[in-house]
Amino acid sequence: MKADIATYFQADPRVVDNWSPSGDYGPLHPDTDALDQHLTRFIGPYRRSMEEAGVVQRGAPVLRQVARELEPPFDSDLMVPVIRRLRETIERARRSYPFQNGIGISAPQIGLDLAVALVRPPNGSEHVLINPRILSWSEETTYAYEGCLSFFDFRGPVTRPWELTVRYFTPGGEPRIEKFRAGLARLVAHEVDHLAGLFYTDRMPDDIDPISVAEYQTRRIDWEFLDEESQSGVGAETNQAR
Ligand SMILES: [Zn+2]
Repeated sequence: MKADIATYFQADPRVVDNWSPSGDYGPLHPDTDALDQHLTRFIGPYRRSMEEAGVVQRGAPVLRQVARELEPPFDSDLMVPVIRRLRETIERARRSYPFQNGIGISAPQIGLDLAVALVRPPNGSEHVLINPRILSWSEETTYAYEGCLSFFDFRGPVTRPWELTVRYFTPGGEPRIEKFRAGLARLVAHEVDHLAGLFYTDRMPDDIDPISVAEYQTRRIDWEFLDEESQSGVGAETNQAR
């Protein structure tokens, strides 16, 4: 894949300089094994409901691997069932929580070592990202609490860029370079991290512990979504064919 990247970037050679799998926009936790161990104390009842929804839970090795990139053109016998399974898992997960800030899932979270992720902002539109790479990001950042289907019992604050430029492939095998902003950028950044074997907790400050879902509910702040991404329940089928 790497040999081909220059080709995709010919339209804008500046982005090559910033090439990075998931974006070096902040320091990562230096010892993820110790962090994973430390955070087991926050496990609660959502672990069971997300497991029942089919989401692989923190502690599974597949979540700490860099996901395998796919070589286009993609075999629809592989791609169609993978995307269908991601959608079905999201639908099951939504039965146990309202997800006001949108939702995303990556293939490793359903046990598949593939660089495929799917995000849905609150308006219900859908973005399917295959082999996504964060090319560049804004200096401007946002700070918000995130949750993860693979350890849903707690929430933690993460600083993310306000805007990301991402190269990815569509399920049809077409390369795209697209800018994502605000809450949608956060959803995308979270899922691209999964494909790099990272959790949002790896980007949390060392001295901050996550909080329980109950505590989060008392201080939660909805993420900022731009107008076109924020209307709940509108355009549910919008980008699904991409
Ligand atoms: Zn997650």
